[in-house]
Amino acid sequence: MGNSTKDYEWEEYWPGWVKNCQPNVEQMKELLNSTGPGFCLAKWNQVTIHLGTGLTHSCHHPIPHKIPLDEVLKNPHALHNTSYKKKQRKEMLCGNKPAECDYCWRIEDKDQLSDRFYKSLEPWSFDDHDTITKYTGDEDVIPKYVEVSFGNTCNQKCIYCGPEFSSKWAEELKREGIFKLLKDTPKADENEYFSWIDLDNFLYKNNENNPYIDAYWKWFPEVYKEIKYYRITGGEPLLQKETFKTIDFLIDNPNPNLDFSINSNLSCPDELWDKFLNKILKLIENKSIKKFTLYSSIESYGPQAEYARYGLDFEKFKTRAEQYLRTVSNARIVFMSTFNILALPTFYNILEWVNSLKRNFNYCHNYRRLKLDADVNFDQDHVAIKEQNPDIPVVVGIDIPYLRGPEFLDCKIATPELIDTYLKPCMDYIYANKEHQEWNAHLGFEEYEASKLRRIYWDLVYTTHQQQQNPHIVTQRAVFYDYINEIDRRRNTNFLETFPEFDKFFGVCKKARENV
Ligand code: SF4
Repeated sequence: MGNSTKDYEWEEYWPGWVKNCQPNVEQMKELLNSTGPGFCLAKWNQVTIHLGTGLTHSCHHPIPHKIPLDEVLKNPHALHNTSYKKKQRKEMLCGNKPAECDYCWRIEDKDQLSDRFYKSLEPWSFDDHDTITKYTGDEDVIPKYVEVSFGNTCNQKCIYCGPEFSSKWAEELKREGIFKLLKDTPKADENEYFSWIDLDNFLYKNNENNPYIDAYWKWFPEVYKEIKYYRITGGEPLLQKETFKTIDFLIDNPNPNLDFSINSNLSCPDELWDKFLNKILKLIENKSIKKFTLYSSIESYGPQAEYARYGLDFEKFKTRAEQYLRTVSNARIVFMSTFNILALPTFYNILEWVNSLKRNFNYCHNYRRLKLDADVNFDQDHVAIKEQNPDIPVVVGIDIPYLRGPEFLDCKIATPELIDTYLKPCMDYIYANKEHQEWNAHLGFEEYEASKLRRIYWDLVYTTHQQQQNPHIVTQRAVFYDYINEIDRRRNTNFLETFPEFDKFFGVCKKARENV
């Protein structure tokens, strides 16, 4: 039997909420390892369920697996508790490290702190540690952090996405066929990208007669009161009727403990955008939920963002993000910056924009006190905006997940020069603009935001400096070269005109392609 959370002293933001800080993360490592070196609470308490395709994973790092239809027809709890997932949980409880969690093992092998510790420290998992250590792995558990996708309807086709998550991608693949990368080389067969997808049958159309959606509507009303964090992802949720049905369900069936969020690309038609804003205002005004967060993905700036997220209108994206911040009180927005190779040249600009929003919309208790106690207004507009968000200090946030697949868009294929030229300044910027509780509380990047980029940076510095000639990396550069050329042909875009910073690197990739 491993240790208990009670065996340690935890730093807290306030009673009941442990801090996501270095000493706590180190303690969490020791605590989890006392049960086993692969033990991680996210395997029980976090789930992503893709109802359009019937796939699930816990957490989001492992590759999703199919929820067997017979399991979910018998028991809607199989949406999260598949027999496969139970096997992974047993491995963790028995002191093993499931192979599907290799993302964390790679980081831990370098003596870094992996998401295993960070996720287990989250408020949606920490409290359940001592209960989960007593499990056998066979239990049907109710997850505390749920992410659901209702289908793939989407109006964008982002560079690293695919038909499972975007109907625009599915349309293009049907029209143009799969990507035959490294064609006419010995590696051609293994580089037929999307060849594994049966475009006619991989998902339930319009969610009609979809047994996974039926199971969801049996499962969700039963478990929603115990869920702490509930997030709707896509496709583009604002184009899907199940999203609005879920919001209406929550308006009629409040759960004041629920942290509710929706992912959106902020690019839907005007009438749906207005409908969304009005419904969220109603949810908040009625106090039907505890908190609302809008998540939106962006990691490149301007035309590079429009290339990487084809279909995006970048100026509209910025305008709507700011409109949301000025319209909806007491709600957050978090930018999901999925770190991939195309983010490198303009990630700095994204950090600058997010920082400016943080300074305008986040709540600083010191500035507030100065206004209340001494009637000093440093920034009239800032204080006025803050009156809108008295309960939520970090209104604007950034999360930086690392893109692992497809491998040819993984930033590991970059040269060390690209990392030094573009990522090192981002590190300097994010750390130079960190908030500090004693003065500019929340008017800059939080420690957990900066440390996520730091982990990515360390990993990339090691990999790019040590593995320049690694044959696998060299091959992935060749695949990248073919993929980008084919994207340009299919979409009538011009990679090097949009990304002139990659001129030299693309030459390296071309050479790799010639030598396959
Ligand atoms: S990938 Fe890491 S964080 Fe996710 S479940 Fe596995 S060990 Fe936990």
